[in-house]
Amino acid sequence: FKMPGSQPLRVACIGAGYVGGPTMAVIAAKTPPEAVQVRVLDLSAERIAAWNSERLPIYEPGLSELVFAARGRNLHFSTAIDDGIKWADIIFVAVNTPTKECGIGAGAAADLTYVELAARQIAAAADTPKIVVEKSTVPIRTAEALSAILEACGRTSFEILSNPEFLAEGTAVRDLCEPDRVLIGGDLKTERGRQALEALVELYAYWVPRERILTTNVWSSELSKLVANAFLAQRVSSINSISALCELSGAQIDEVARAVGLDRRIGPRFLQCSVGFGGSCFQKDILNLVYLCESFGLNVVADYWRSVIAINDWQKQRFTARILHSLYNTATNKKIAILGFAFKKDTADTRESAAIDVCGSLLQECAKLSIYDPQVPAEQIWSDLTRRCRRTRDELAAYVTLAATADEAAAGSHAIVILTEWDEFRTLDYSKMYKSMCRPAFLFDGRSVCDLKALSEIGFLCYAIGSPDDS
Ligand code: NAD
Repeated sequence: FKMPGSQPLRVACIGAGYVGGPTMAVIAAKTPPEAVQVRVLDLSAERIAAWNSERLPIYEPGLSELVFAARGRNLHFSTAIDDGIKWADIIFVAVNTPTKECGIGAGAAADLTYVELAARQIAAAADTPKIVVEKSTVPIRTAEALSAILEACGRTSFEILSNPEFLAEGTAVRDLCEPDRVLIGGDLKTERGRQALEALVELYAYWVPRERILTTNVWSSELSKLVANAFLAQRVSSINSISALCELSGAQIDEVARAVGLDRRIGPRFLQCSVGFGGSCFQKDILNLVYLCESFGLNVVADYWRSVIAINDWQKQRFTARILHSLYNTATNKKIAILGFAFKKDTADTRESAAIDVCGSLLQECAKLSIYDPQVPAEQIWSDLTRRCRRTRDELAAYVTLAATADEAAAGSHAIVILTEWDEFRTLDYSKMYKSMCRPAFLFDGRSVCDLKALSEIGFLCYAIGSPDDS
């Protein structure tokens, strides 16, 4: 691969989503325009229009500042995919890889339709050698399939790299600017492979210290992404499993988590109990890992990882059952304030959010929900609930209202249920909210954001995951 000498390096990304958009914005922001030019490409004209507007399609702290500064300078968003492919030296593929919905492997295997389509688009349009970078999270050995398609259908030569993304939504810009590590898998055995790998290392080296850029063979890189997400989710399920034991035995989960996490071999992070993990990746990637293990005949290993999801599902059910039990086993026509709908704070993303399951189950009990989230658009909440409940928006409208503030959601309600750990929920005027609520007034904290002692003193009957009733 001859990288252009005096020309800027031309970087394209297919997929302008939660990964493609922020990743490319950071590459553009961290590199001089005379050295690197970036084009982000997507099939969705609506998404590209939003990236080119004042209101970006995704919310991430610090993202709009980066995009507004780099846009038009060395960052461009476009639907002209073929042009972008022809133009680029390096092409990232950051398309969605959801769980397959039907057919062989349904509910577990990754759906690689979009990855294959992107590969075929590259093969058809490219007329000069390209480095193709797998940014999407994919099953191990996907690079082999990519390579086969590109070589069979293309007119030029391609080098495939794996460069999985470890950013977390809500902290995407920080994670991209100061990554724990950047992982690049390539063909270390050939000269061309090593050159391609070095080209990508040099791009990241504009802002990432070299010792944090890890190079491996392609298969290790592909698998590491699935394993990293599986380990993170496993920690959440591990602490959540213990939260149930705490509630029954008199131990306090936050005390246990602190005591355990102070062991340097274990560490304190990701030991926060909750109503359950969500997001587009954890469940999907574990299912993918489970499917891979099963296809290699490793059924005991598959069962081990499957249990991480089973605990997560159970935690959501357990929390909802507890709400119902506290409300004297009937929620019919009781107004319940739902605080938070995003799967975590500082994002408007609701994919696999625990809130969807908890709200869906409460609606089955005929509760009346008043939902407040500071970032999630109303349309998204309606779309998630209509899909989950298999009811039309008109049918749900008798049971669901969207509130403009937490106070409005709480007024006249029997209970407040906290489902996202937004910072603003820590400092709400709970005394004022209590006065506007029915009696007895309950508060169910699914994210450990509240000072339960203070709330009990106000008069709330409180339940927090992992705290025994008499605490
Ligand atoms: P997303 O759904 O937000 O974005 C994917 C985008 O790709 C969409 O805008 C879609 O229109 C576009 N697209 C699909 N096929 C295309 C094609 N052939 N040509 C052009 N555009 C196409 O998805 P995401 O959350 O950004 O995730 C992308 C990948 O990154 C997934 O594999 C995911 O597992 C992985 N990942 C996601 C996160 C995260 O936090 N969301 C973190 C790390 C890795």
